[in-house]
Amino acid sequence: MKRQRKEQPDVVVAGAGFAGTVIARELAEAGKHVLLLEKREHIGGNMYDEKNADGILIHRYGPHIFHTNDAAVYEYVRRFGTWMPYYHQVRGKIGGKEVPIPFNFQAMEQLFPAEKVSRLQQKLRFLFRERKRVSVMELLECSEKEIAELGQFVYDFVFAGYTAKQWGVPVDQVDRSVINRVPVVLGYENGYFADVYQLMPQEGYTSIFETMLRHPRIQCCLGTDAQTRITLQENGTIWLDGTVFHGVFVYTGMPDELLHYRYGTLPYRSLDLQFETLQLESAQSVGVVNYPNSEAFTRITEFKKLTGQKKSGITTILREYPTAFARQEGQEAYYPIENPENRARYERYRTALATWNQLYLCGRLAEYRYYNMDGVVARALQVSQEILERKSLSNDSRTVCLLT
Ligand code: FAD
Ligand code: UDP
Repeated sequence: MKRQRKEQPDVVVAGAGFAGTVIARELAEAGKHVLLLEKREHIGGNMYDEKNADGILIHRYGPHIFHTNDAAVYEYVRRFGTWMPYYHQVRGKIGGKEVPIPFNFQAMEQLFPAEKVSRLQQKLRFLFRERKRVSVMELLECSEKEIAELGQFVYDFVFAGYTAKQWGVPVDQVDRSVINRVPVVLGYENGYFADVYQLMPQEGYTSIFETMLRHPRIQCCLGTDAQTRITLQENGTIWLDGTVFHGVFVYTGMPDELLHYRYGTLPYRSLDLQFETLQLESAQSVGVVNYPNSEAFTRITEFKKLTGQKKSGITTILREYPTAFARQEGQEAYYPIENPENRARYERYRTALATWNQLYLCGRLAEYRYYNMDGVVARALQVSQEILERKSLSNDSRTVCLLT
């Protein structure tokens, strides 16, 4: 058989979400040859968007709004397409009314008598001084009786039902960091996020990813599970297509899969996403309406309101039904379930995976962290830098292997 020279890539990246794509791009720009393997048939990870059969741009894996306080991340993503300012508003169905979420002074006015509202506002201003946001827990644990009662109200009617649906356990069993993502606002500000930069990609997220991956040193293979090409050998080496691989392997998938569930499965939460196109100009008042106290779904998203797409007479909505995550075809791992036990199991995987010093874990799945997009971009930029500082990945390190 004829002997054929085949160069190995400098870097293999598993996963084309923000984690994998930023790293692929950064390393390619620094002169490295990158092989990007994505097990789905498309790029973009959970940010992937596409036009549905009705011509409406939807987010296949749930609604994504880009928000950050990190100017470097903002500047970075702006390099790859046009973004438009977008001020995300959410309402929640409470007591037969539709009130702003995060719960704010306007919500109080909608739900409580005027006299009580003015007393509560005065007390809040006095107790929390200059602060614009507090956590529901701070209200709940306040020594002032009426403020603690307000906290209890918000806890019961904004958080308890939604959280039980979302996580499948009572709210008091959910890590506080999760519910603290949504504050109580001490004022009339009614945006869902408080970040300085809040954006949506004008042509959609997929277009941003296409631009990022359009680089002569990036080769992208879709429909390819990295485990079919990469093997972690017990002796600490990594093999690519049956040959020892000397480059770097970046993995953005679930870490337990890499070690064949040696320490048991890492739990994640999933969603059953139900899309529906309605013959209506508009389905609801704002982009997202939450249902903390009724319905089996948590929220309804109306995509036209997020994307700014103009399409008259029809609109597509999405209902999110949270579900347990089982490792089966068609189910997605959307949320790591943060608690000390799961974190300890994750740490066992991370420690064991440190055996392979060419391996880097990055992203929401691989690091088992409830990252937002901006956090993943920032982390991926940092990991890229660490990889570039490795001695063994100097410019002349590309290995040549001989295949027969
Ligand atoms: P992912 O986007 O999950 O990408 C990982 C990729 O790796 C996937 O494409 C997967 O197919 C691939 N992969 C996994 N294993 C393998 C393998 N073995 N071989 C090859 N490929 C593999 N963040 C925000 O900032 N704003 C929001 O509004 C927002 N909304 C969200 C709504 C929902 C419903 C969810 C679930 C998340 C939301 N997020 C939001 C968070 C955001 O989705 C994550 O921060 C982001 O997806 C993380 O990017 P990632 O690259 O780490 O992971
Ligand atoms: N949450 C809630 N009620 C709401 C909105 C959020 O109880 O109306 C809680 C819920 O536990 C949720 C968490 O706050 O999982 C974080 O909300 P976020 O909107 O950040 O969730 P994501 O968009 O990531 O699903």
